[in-house]
Amino acid sequence: EGKRLEGKVALITGGASGIGLATVQKFVREGAKVLVVDIDAERAEKVVAEIEADGQAGSVAAAQADVSVYADVEAAVQRAVDVFGRLDVIFNNAGIAGGKALLDHDPAVDYAPMIRVDQDGVYHGILAAGRQFKSQGTGGVIISTSSIYGEQAAELAFSYSAAKAAVISFTRSAAYELAEYGVRAVAITPGRVGTPIINQFSEELRTTFASEQLRNALTEPSEIADVVAFLASDEANAINGTVVHVDDGYSVF
Ligand code: NAD
Repeated sequence: EGKRLEGKVALITGGASGIGLATVQKFVREGAKVLVVDIDAERAEKVVAEIEADGQAGSVAAAQADVSVYADVEAAVQRAVDVFGRLDVIFNNAGIAGGKALLDHDPAVDYAPMIRVDQDGVYHGILAAGRQFKSQGTGGVIISTSSIYGEQAAELAFSYSAAKAAVISFTRSAAYELAEYGVRAVAITPGRVGTPIINQFSEELRTTFASEQLRNALTEPSEIADVVAFLASDEANAINGTVVHVDDGYSVF
């Protein structure tokens, strides 16, 4: 690999599993230093131990944070700066999926979880990293994980879709407000990716999911990570305030 992220420091939320984990691994291969942030501290530490055992000691560290709590995210940004000296990239990727049919909702229970994690979590990352980028004076890149459901309706996904649509809106607004500090913001919309979120479903349902994409397969987490690494690199300097669809054609149907 071309070491496209040499000298860069990145913070990746949801870095202990799935798309986030694949992106941690890819960023390290591209020469970045990475803070693995997750609510699951044990798995985040395990990711770090495995990468260190692979001969990359000094390239990774872990921090526990619940992205729905601003103080946690702010502390994680500070930790990246304490450990690696600066911050260049934040990948706001932590998320949860699920939901109920709208008319089955208990509004006190079924609306808020996705909004707190998938929407507020990204807001918190943009705010904390944006403040760091401004004070550093070196620019920065904000990449956030939306979804095909940020742009389309889906079964049982009323508040998930709302949260993922907000991620796209936040990305436009962040690009607009932070351009004067040399900051770029990009959202990605994965389709059906083979991570624990999807792998928990039956073989039959996974076959249906695969058939919704043009290669008739689930996307590999590493394929999403490849795109995120490109977007984080200087090769993507002209991509700003927009959505990059990484859905293997899901949206053509
Ligand atoms: P995953 O479950 O494998 O990974 C999500 C990670 O986020 C886990 O390690 C989890 O512990 C962490 N997390 C959950 N809540 C958190 C919180 N409050 N604070 C910090 N960390 C938290 O899932 P994934 O498929 O890799 O999902 C990553 C992102 O991609 C999510 O935002 C998801 O909505 C999005 N996405 C996934 C797919 C897919 O098909 N898998 C498609 C579109 C979008």
